[in-house]
Amino acid sequence: MSERFFVEQPIEGDQAELVGPEAHHLSHVLRARRGEFVTLFDGTGFEYRARIESIARAQVSLSVLDRSRVDRELTFSLTLGVSLPRGDRQKWMVEKLSELGATRLVPLLAQRTVAEPGAAARERLRRTAIEAAKQCGRNRLLEIGEPVEIANFLSAAPRDAERWILHPHAVPDGWISAAAAPRFPSPTARLPATAVVIAVGPEGGFTAEELQQSLALGWTPRTLGPRILRIETAAIAIAAQLVGSSHP
Ligand code: SAH
Repeated sequence: MSERFFVEQPIEGDQAELVGPEAHHLSHVLRARRGEFVTLFDGTGFEYRARIESIARAQVSLSVLDRSRVDRELTFSLTLGVSLPRGDRQKWMVEKLSELGATRLVPLLAQRTVAEPGAAARERLRRTAIEAAKQCGRNRLLEIGEPVEIANFLSAAPRDAERWILHPHAVPDGWISAAAAPRFPSPTARLPATAVVIAVGPEGGFTAEELQQSLALGWTPRTLGPRILRIETAAIAIAAQLVGSSHP
């Protein structure tokens, strides 16, 4: 795989421009030269072979030689509604979820949520998703959604999707006992149909009310074992299990 660069505007025709951090990466970090070949992607699922025509300070012009559809996605869409952790752990989670093939990350606003990302924070996370896609060869970006209230997230998820709410099973309010907690299906269990939607709670956990609401809407509670995982660990663990069943 030659060096990959992300183009903000969908590529149509035989010219493309890199601007901003992508132009900087190409010209200053990699010190690429005119005439060299690189791979471009624009998030539409295609990959383009391109030749560098000119390098200016903040802009690189390339001619596009060919395009091919290269699919490195999961076989189903994977949406994670996550009550975001703080700081660097957000970024780390976005990087790992991108690598694992997640389709969409929706910042969840639950009753105990502490971090609500504004537009600038979401833009930074999008940048992280771009960096991850460059590195891992995905031609689609992990989409960073706008924050959504948990009640809306729970009710808006399509009924024919697999809808899983993650919750440690040993809870004091007895919402779900260890014995009653459905275990995650083994890797040999049937593959998810077309869409999986997952809810991951804040460090303080989902409230009893939120859990009851999810049950009433037909969500399935899932546990990841008896240890309490950090938010980002739980999100990545469930995505990793799904990746295992998507690409056995
Ligand atoms: N004190 C909280 C723990 C929250 S951990 C509580 O007792 O609920 C943050 C989130 O990660 C949880 O809301 C849940 O969605 C997920 N999580 C953490 N550990 C988990 C486990 N063992 N099984 C399933 N989900 C887990």
